[in-house]
Amino acid sequence: MNLNLRESMVKAVVDGLRKAVVYLPIDVKNALKKAYEEESSLAAKAHLEAILKNVELAERLGAPLCQDTGIITFYVRLGARFPGIQYIESVLVEATRKATVEIPLRPNSVDPFTGLNSGDNTGRFAPVIIWDGVNLESDSLEIVVVPKGGGSEYVSTLYMAVPSKGIESIEEAVLDAVIKAGAMPCPPTIIGVGIGGTVDLAMHLAKKAATIRKIGSRHPNPFVAELEEKLLRMVNDLGIGAMGMGGKASTALAVHVEYAYRHPATYPIAIAFQCWAARRAFITIKPDGSYTIEQ
Ligand code: SF4
Repeated sequence: MNLNLRESMVKAVVDGLRKAVVYLPIDVKNALKKAYEEESSLAAKAHLEAILKNVELAERLGAPLCQDTGIITFYVRLGARFPGIQYIESVLVEATRKATVEIPLRPNSVDPFTGLNSGDNTGRFAPVIIWDGVNLESDSLEIVVVPKGGGSEYVSTLYMAVPSKGIESIEEAVLDAVIKAGAMPCPPTIIGVGIGGTVDLAMHLAKKAATIRKIGSRHPNPFVAELEEKLLRMVNDLGIGAMGMGGKASTALAVHVEYAYRHPATYPIAIAFQCWAARRAFITIKPDGSYTIEQ
């Protein structure tokens, strides 16, 4: 079948959504297996075993790995020389509608005032499209698909710390958010922490760190990398465990910190949770419509 560029873009995004909701990325699977091996709470271990079986079953059946297929978010990075820039927004909406029927995805897009569900995961500012920069040298379009579960989104939060308190505020904010969240974000979670910048930038950094960064990667700033390890130890020491079942090895799989320079008078600390169903897919579309999908 010969598809024109726009049709190929729709197909690429539907395929990316399918890959994201059916297959868990390998770094997340490995981290869940490690948590299972290291967890001493029998109740948490039983939940981790059920999660791992569920992941296997989803792959075998080609079915979504969680009934909540999330709020669909696209991070778009433009290649300046990509020939289909004018189609991008309409492609993302059309692909979301198509994927909702074909995969299927649960319709999760609701009017905030009336509670009415659009039925196809679209609506005002839905799907969420985040324009994530331009690569002047590139002729390709890069889209990261993130179907993010409602449970993890529900407990994501923002603190405005006292600037003079510094690093102590970060530890306090993360622990407070994790304690308040409890089992709601379906632990083990990946916790993104966005520090500094403005309130909106801090949350943007936190959400990207929670959803896109691979588990096992180290932050290039050694101070931040050490902070991440310390925060992960502190979070797991809280003993919430997988699905709130207790245990010291499965409250979180990773803590990812990102930061930006801030105004001297402000100290935003954003905490974004990602649940164990940490779904994502990286789509790259070439000018001829051919594409690759990675996780
Ligand atoms: S928070 Fe994640 S694992 Fe829990 S129900 Fe929602 S999508 Fe599924």
